[in-house]
Amino acid sequence: MNYIFDVDDTLTPSRELMNKDFSKWFEHFGTHNACYWVTGSPKHMTERQLGASIYSLAIRAYQCSGADVWQGEERLKTSDWKLPLLARQFLQQIYAEEDFSLKNEDCIDERPGMVNYSIIGATDDTILRDAFSEWESHNGSRRRTADAFNKMFPDLQATVGGRTGIDIGPRGSDKSQILEDFNPSEVMFFGDKTYDGGNDYELAEAVKLGGGIVHAVTKWEDTWAILKQL
Ligand SMILES: [Mg+2]
Repeated sequence: MNYIFDVDDTLTPSRELMNKDFSKWFEHFGTHNACYWVTGSPKHMTERQLGASIYSLAIRAYQCSGADVWQGEERLKTSDWKLPLLARQFLQQIYAEEDFSLKNEDCIDERPGMVNYSIIGATDDTILRDAFSEWESHNGSRRRTADAFNKMFPDLQATVGGRTGIDIGPRGSDKSQILEDFNPSEVMFFGDKTYDGGNDYELAEAVKLGGGIVHAVTKWEDTWAILKQL
């Protein structure tokens, strides 16, 4: 069995470090099982969150939703895709219209093969991120933005990812692209955003369709509880 894990809110709290007890437990699990990471984040961020020793247990790390693939310190694949100008202007227009007092103009984070759009920027400030979540729970800002974006740019793809951002790349650049490396019937996938519009959705659907197993979790504690029962 190949165990494929999303990172934010599946192995760690969103953008935060892995829990120490879970990390200790996972050291053993990851040494004896075939594990992989698939996340919208770039490598340095995932490495920081999981810690170098857990990070290195993965057979492959699919960073940037699979556009940037690593095997240890060796980069197996990357992408030179750039966000088209019209799409950038569209996001900047939406950004300008958002009625949130703690916005950050630096709202587009460029990564290999994708960008992450967030009106608070790429920040680890928990208080700011909580304030955004609270504000968004009333208006569904990211879902609305992703839907509008996808209607306007059919060649591109926007999905809600993590707690504060939207992952955007070429159509088909979602996490399901990693399945070219797997037989889906031999996959067990753990993700917290497996619902329609979430950045784990396409991969979760493709795994299920191919006869594999999907565990929809809401936090890392769920993942740990499931793993302990295997
Ligand atoms: Mg996640």
